[in-house]
Parts: sequence; structure tokens; C-alpha cells
Amino acid sequence: GIFMTIYNFSAGPAVLPKPVLEQAQREMLDYQGSGMSVLEMSHRSKEFDHIIKEAERLLRELMAIPDNYKVLFLQGGASTQFTMLPLNLAKGRKAYYLVGGSWGKKAYAEAVKLSKTIPFEPVLLASSEDTVYDHIPTFDPKTIDPEAAYVHITTNNTIEGTAIYDLPDTNGVPIVADMSSNILAARYNVEDFAVIYAGAQKNIGPAGVTVVIIREDFLNDEPTLSSMLDYRIQAEAGSLYNTPPAYSIYISKLVFEWVEAFGGVDKMEEANREKSGLLYDFIDQSDFYTNPVKNPAQRSVANVPFVTPSKELDAEFVAEATALGFKNIKGHRSVGGMRASLYNAFPRQGVVDLIAFMKQFEAENKSNYCPFYSRNVIQ
Ligand SMILES: *Cc1c(COP(=O)(O)O)cnc(C)c1O
Repeated sequence: GIFMTIYNFSAGPAVLPKPVLEQAQREMLDYQGSGMSVLEMSHRSKEFDHIIKEAERLLRELMAIPDNYKVLFLQGGASTQFTMLPLNLAKGRKAYYLVGGSWGKKAYAEAVKLSKTIPFEPVLLASSEDTVYDHIPTFDPKTIDPEAAYVHITTNNTIEGTAIYDLPDTNGVPIVADMSSNILAARYNVEDFAVIYAGAQKNIGPAGVTVVIIREDFLNDEPTLSSMLDYRIQAEAGSLYNTPPAYSIYISKLVFEWVEAFGGVDKMEEANREKSGLLYDFIDQSDFYTNPVKNPAQRSVANVPFVTPSKELDAEFVAEATALGFKNIKGHRSVGGMRASLYNAFPRQGVVDLIAFMKQFEAENKSNYCPFYSRNVIQ
């Protein structure tokens, strides 16, 4: 029969390392001699206790998380953090939002909504929405009230393909970050943040678990909030206040082991830069494909959006690519075009093969749209 390699460019839930899936498969029916699947286990069992503690230990090691930070495994996705953060941290003060993409805009919108119920003042620090988020917006740090609760940033704009690698000056106000799509893909210094949160399904593991890393002094003084939404209660219960997303935590632990075996986050970042660099370099030398992000320092190593000269060709590109096994490469509906999500588990060969297809597609379609180049199409 015909064998076709499938490359999964999905932005999330996304590709997982094959060795992780194979180990999960081996352990599916009988987890380490327990006679049970992790899917069937009590979250109070000694087996699961080991899993969640190992997951935490590994993540601490990978990200060099200091002891005065708590690591939580919560539910509700990154989207619940849009509410949980201001609920726990804002305390009647100002909370600034740097909006460089659609997810940051949502985080801000949720804060605005919440501020109608509890007293605090969300402030839009800067936004690049007017240019469809093709860059990270800038601002004057002196405009930030030093008494503010936090400045919220999104380290990687999953939909638009920009990222913040060098943190902005926030006039001494603590930074909280949605790191959903580049946690473990690039090195960040945890001490630069009050809170880091990430839905797991982009670069950690399966959907269902959300990682929250929070400095202890940002936990509530008194547990007065709804328990599920209270960082302190969740922290004191070791993420076991209620039934956690046990299987998702188990897979995340396997992914952490895989990242460690790969050589850790620095090695991962190096590989991701090389991998995404191949694609960026190819797009930059082409006059057929365009990446909307012009500043190379702000380009995401995790999500690479690009377009052809027309919407019709974009649609054709997606159809042909999909048929050849380049799956989930369609861009987000808000920006169109294509998006190659190249998370940690995405293989380098997938980028090499994609570029080969892009060359072929360009050769076959360039003359129709760029008559000037028609003489050079077949070389
Ligand atoms: C995917 C994504 C979200 C939403 O995550 P959920 O877990 O689905 O709520 C939020 N922020 C960023 C940056 C994302 O990439």
C-alpha cells in the first residue's frame, strides 16, 4: 500500500513526542504492575501521588523554578486563568494588559468583564490590533502606575506568530504571563514573573491540565474566594483540592521526561530556533510567500504564519498540502492564510518536507499570479 507521512502542524491540541505516546500505550492497561490504567486510578493512590510529584519535580528542574514558587496543575484551560488571575491578584488596584494578539485581547476582555463585579481597574497598556497584531506593541513604562497589581503579557501570540523574548520594563510592576504556546520552547527566567500560566495542549501535553507557576507572596492572604478559583487553596492542597485531570498530568510528566532526555529547555530552544529558522529563511527569500511579522526579533519559534499572493492560492495551498499529509496547516480563521505550528515535538524533517512542497507549489503557481517571474518558473 501507499505509505504517507503525516505531519501535524496543529496549533493545539498539538503533536506529542512519539516515544511518549508509545510509553503511554505500553502502560495503558497496566501502569507499572499496578494492574490498572492511570485512567482508572484514584488520585489519592500512591501511584498517582508519585506521578504528580514527579511531574512537578521535572517541571521545576526544566524551568529552574525557585523554591518560593508554587507549581499548580489546574483545570479550566488558560481561559479560566483570564478570570482567576485578576480575581486573586488585582485587589482593587490597576491591572495593565499588553495586548499583542487575540489571546491577550481575550484576557483583557475577561478582566474588563470581571471588573464590573469586583472592584479593580483593568487598563489597556498598548495594543497592536490596528495592524492585525503583526508586532509587539510598545509603551512608555513611566505611564504605568507603580502601585498597580500586575502587567499581563502573552509571551507567544499563537495565532499571529509573534513572541516576546526580552521582557519589557514595567516600572517595577510584577509581570504575569500567559505562556501557553511557548512554555518549554524558549528559556524564560521564572524569577522575572509573579505568575506564569499555560494550557498544556500546545507544548506540554494533552488538553485538560493548565500549569500555573506562582510566587508564594502572590497567594491570597485569606482563602475567601470560591475554592476552585483560589490559588492558595489549590496550592495548599497540592493541586488535589478536587479530582485533578489525572491522565493529562501523567502524559505531561512523560513529556517532561522527554524534554529532559532531549537536553532540557536550552537545547529545545536551540532546536526550535533552527527548525523555525529554516522556514523563516525560506519565506524571506521567496517573493511568493510572506510572513506578516517583519521584525525578526519578534518572530515566534513556535507558530509561523504565512500567506501566498492571494486568498484563492492560500485555499489551494491548504487543500494540496492536506492531501499530501501536511495536516492542520490552515491559518486561524481570524487571520487566514497558513500557520505552521512547530512545537517541541514537531520533527525537523517535517519542516524540510514542507519547504520542498512550498517550492513546488510556488513553481506551479507563480506564473499565474506574478507574470514577471514566469520565465524563471522551471529551472
Ligand atoms: C490556546 C491559547 C489559550 C487558550 O487556551 P485554553 O486552554 O483553550 O483555554 C490562551 N492563550 C494562549 C496564548 C493560547 O495559545
